[in-house]
Amino acid sequence: MDDLRRILRRIDGKGYKAYKAIAGAYHGGGLSLYVDHVQGDPFAAPSKVRCRIPRRRAALPPGLFDNSVRRTALEDFLARQVRRAIGDIVKGGRGTGRSGLVTVDAGGQEVLERTAVLVRSDWVEVRLEVGLPGSGRSILGLQAEEMLCEELPAVAGRGLVWSHLPQEAARRFVECVENQEHLRAQLPRHGLIAFVADGALLPRRSGVSDLPLDAHECVIFHSPDEMRVTLELLHPIPGREPSGRLITGMGIPAGVTLIVGGGYHGKSTLLQALERGVYPHIPGDGREYVVSCPGAVKIRAEDGRRVTQVDISPFINNLPFSRGTCPFSSERASGSTSQAASLMEALEVGASTLLMDEDTSATNFMVRDARMQALVRKSCEPITPFIDRVRQLYDDLGVSTVLVMGGCGDYFETADKVVMMREYQPIDVTRKAREIAGEIPSRRANEGAAPLRASMRRIPEAGSYSAARGGRRVKIDTPTLHRIRLGATDIDLSAMDQLVDSSQTRAIAHALHLLRQFMGPEEDLNALLSRLEACFDEQGLSCLSLYGDEEQHPGNFARPRRYEIAAALNRHRTIRIQLR
Ligand code: ADP
Ligand code: MG
Repeated sequence: MDDLRRILRRIDGKGYKAYKAIAGAYHGGGLSLYVDHVQGDPFAAPSKVRCRIPRRRAALPPGLFDNSVRRTALEDFLARQVRRAIGDIVKGGRGTGRSGLVTVDAGGQEVLERTAVLVRSDWVEVRLEVGLPGSGRSILGLQAEEMLCEELPAVAGRGLVWSHLPQEAARRFVECVENQEHLRAQLPRHGLIAFVADGALLPRRSGVSDLPLDAHECVIFHSPDEMRVTLELLHPIPGREPSGRLITGMGIPAGVTLIVGGGYHGKSTLLQALERGVYPHIPGDGREYVVSCPGAVKIRAEDGRRVTQVDISPFINNLPFSRGTCPFSSERASGSTSQAASLMEALEVGASTLLMDEDTSATNFMVRDARMQALVRKSCEPITPFIDRVRQLYDDLGVSTVLVMGGCGDYFETADKVVMMREYQPIDVTRKAREIAGEIPSRRANEGAAPLRASMRRIPEAGSYSAARGGRRVKIDTPTLHRIRLGATDIDLSAMDQLVDSSQTRAIAHALHLLRQFMGPEEDLNALLSRLEACFDEQGLSCLSLYGDEEQHPGNFARPRRYEIAAALNRHRTIRIQLR
């Protein structure tokens, strides 16, 4: 560490480029500091630094990271502690541009596998971005010394060393995440695809905030008696007080579930909780015991999206001018064709449950009532509506659906369960809905005669896209949660409701780049994604880094699901796909 101090004093006042001299590793004060990347000027992307603390000093209890769920939870927790320590310790503005800023890529309401903090058996490490201080183009070496040699070690100490951490909160966090995964693992045994705990707090503060609504403004979730199930929680982590071992809540069974109810009574809020329920949440989120099966995928209409070689014939046939739908391609899909394509793409990569909301669906994709069937004959209507496929999806393919549908009772016949939201509380109205379906026939004819087929294998062409722009340089950028810039092409992810963290977006962008290396004439999309996930499991997300090596510094990835990676690839504007 003294070497670093010496260099910084030597280059004080020199041109900013002289900072390049500090790249390297420094040791002292109970930690190692690795300067992996040095920015070119105070406005450039910040420099990348890691602080590593050996096991003996960090002394994290092994019981908090002795399986992969606990390790992910602990790493996520520590990243949040580092973020807090930065707020308390780092002085901040130390000159021009980003001078003096320190950031860590910690999470929001969801707990994700991420690369900001790594806990290993011999050490714990945090990856930081820092703005090296400069005044205009000249180095502020003494400021840099204070930052790198005093602030960062203090931040790492506060955020990573057990004796400085809020220990009860750490245990509770890890235990809470592990319990959520334990609940998720119990779903199949109980024939469920989702669980919403009694006492859950579902609504969010606003349309742009993921924080829970204040409890006093909020109706707390309470399962209908008919749907209440009891699941078990784990034994507490050693060192924690034993808590209740059982938890009750609403079990949503596999099959077809309708969520009905008046406008503004909380239908979409419940569905959104299920969408997010594929990830664990932090304690205090309100949805920490709302868990969905991992294969639950939100499907919605997205007119204008690109569709490449997708067999949508189960839903759409005989388009005008005898345009084919097996496969279907479009530079600008319509509402119904985009929704059909997104659905078939999700099935292709293994979706096991579909989540749909009337608010974001194309009406003509969802239903054709008796009167419309009488006016527009089947031979003139390309669409087989979802209502005539939803049962087949479950009966033939085992794919469940949860559908918010306040506007059309023709769906009653198709449902195994009908849940009505009334003043934000769920009521089981299955029996009543069946009675009504008997008394008031819909008179519509089922149009889904042909059986559902497994989709074709789709084989993406590696040469059809690239991350290069202007010569050979790889250019990957993710300006927002819902936008990827890969080379010269933008990918719009605004319909990906289950993308929750911009570090997932960054990981997806890099994954698209990495996937090209796996592509070949026999590699279909499903196989490619499985290979990528195997890489994630074996090497960690660091395998996405352009630096390539876990010892390097890919400090800002969070793990995306295969469905969102596939969705991004499927929306790429130049992708070409072969069919088998
Ligand atoms: P719907 O889809 O039935 O029309 P929403 O789910 O969009 O209704 O909810 C309408 C409003 O009610 C939203 O502003 C939402 O945040 C709020 N809300 C939802 N659930 C609750 C609840 N349990 N307690 C209080 N407000 C809620
Ligand atoms: Mg709604």
